[in-house]
Amino acid sequence: MIRIVQGDITACQTDAIVNAANNSLLGGGGVDGAIHAAAGPALLKECRTLGGCATGGAKITGGYKLPAKYVIHVVGPVWQGGGAGEEALLYSCHKNALRLAGEKGLASIAFPSVSTGVYRFPLHLAAPIALLALQTESAQWPTITSIAMVCFDDATFAAYTRALAAQGG
Ligand code: ADP
Repeated sequence: MIRIVQGDITACQTDAIVNAANNSLLGGGGVDGAIHAAAGPALLKECRTLGGCATGGAKITGGYKLPAKYVIHVVGPVWQGGGAGEEALLYSCHKNALRLAGEKGLASIAFPSVSTGVYRFPLHLAAPIALLALQTESAQWPTITSIAMVCFDDATFAAYTRALAAQGG
């Protein structure tokens, strides 16, 4: 049910794609910038109504010009060395994203590698936490039948592929 793929999440034709956003939800660089650019300015307009998002939390909007129907914006933790609750916050944003998708009865969802870009969460630590959260928490949401982890670069794809195999696929 969890697939690791390499590519651009803005092209995913899933019910929802997940955005690695920041607390303001008003756009940024990396995958956030790519999603806003592809969705068009109406996405930012809706995001302005949401009042931001706590770290570890998630909020849902429309997908506008994206092929995906919804964008689920999560805010991953900035890596501060591992002693600031980063692992639990990373788990929490995956859990909350699945909850929003499950509550809407969605079937397919695509995630980027949250926090491992500008937020500097070490990839070899983030990948197993993200996958454990997806495997564990998706069990509560029976409509969710397809989860894709969309990796932009080779190192990210390798780390998630390794972590999935280590968790028994
Ligand atoms: P964060 O601030 O949470 O670290 P970033 O956007 O900086 O978020 O990076 C998260 C991951 O998203 C990185 O692995 C980055 O390479 C990847 N990424 C950037 N653009 C895209 C895209 N269009 N599709 C999928 N992943 C992307």
